[in-house]
Amino acid sequence: MPKVKKIPQRMCVGCQEMRPKKELIRVVRTPQGEVEIDPTGKRSGRGAYICPRLECLEKAVKGRRLERALQRPVGQEIIQSLAEGLKGQ
Ligand SMILES: [Zn+2]
Repeated sequence: MPKVKKIPQRMCVGCQEMRPKKELIRVVRTPQGEVEIDPTGKRSGRGAYICPRLECLEKAVKGRRLERALQRPVGQEIIQSLAEGLKGQ
C-alpha cells in the first residue's frame, strides 16, 4: 500500500471499493428512521456511501446493499433522486 495522507475512506455499497469519502454520495438513515440523501455528508445517523456512478447505484439496488447497509427499506424515490443526481454529473 502506498503511503497516503489520512483521507477518510469509505466503501461504496455498489462496487464495494474503498474510496475517499469526499468522492462518494452519502445516504443517511436519520435518527427518525427516514432514509435520505445527504449531500453535505454531515448529517447524523447511520450512513451508507456510494460512488456517483449509475453502475454502482444499479449494483447497490440489485444486491439490496443499500437497504442492508442502512438496515431500512430504501424507497423508490430515494433511488430515483440518486439516479437523477448522477445524471447531472
Ligand atoms: Zn462504487
